[in-house]
Amino acid sequence: MQIIRKSDLIRYVSVIYKKQYFHNNKWDECYFGKFKDHEQQYSALLKATTDNEVQEIIGNSGWTRNKCNECNGDFEVTIQVGEEPFYDSATVNLCIDCLSKAHKEMILHGGWDGLLSVSRQGD
Ligand SMILES: [Zn+2]
Repeated sequence: MQIIRKSDLIRYVSVIYKKQYFHNNKWDECYFGKFKDHEQQYSALLKATTDNEVQEIIGNSGWTRNKCNECNGDFEVTIQVGEEPFYDSATVNLCIDCLSKAHKEMILHGGWDGLLSVSRQGD
């Protein structure tokens, strides 16, 4: 379980950008964006401190979106559970509201023991 903060996503966006587009001591030549090349876009990202600045530089919200996988909202903080994030991993990010609803659902059914008995009734 890990706490995912949008402020951390913003802070590390330049690091992740470089990992993706800088190989063998040079920037990838294939570039489609509003800057001259990856190096200029990277330099701009180094100075970005807000979500809006990153979105303006990149051209979309994908790099700093902190999505809840239950309600699809974009949040300042989510809780990540499941496998280490990787392509096709079983990883889920939940906002505080959705995590709270899951907790209330468990309490409504009498806690963990109650959930187990509901399951047994269905057998
Ligand atoms: Zn949510």
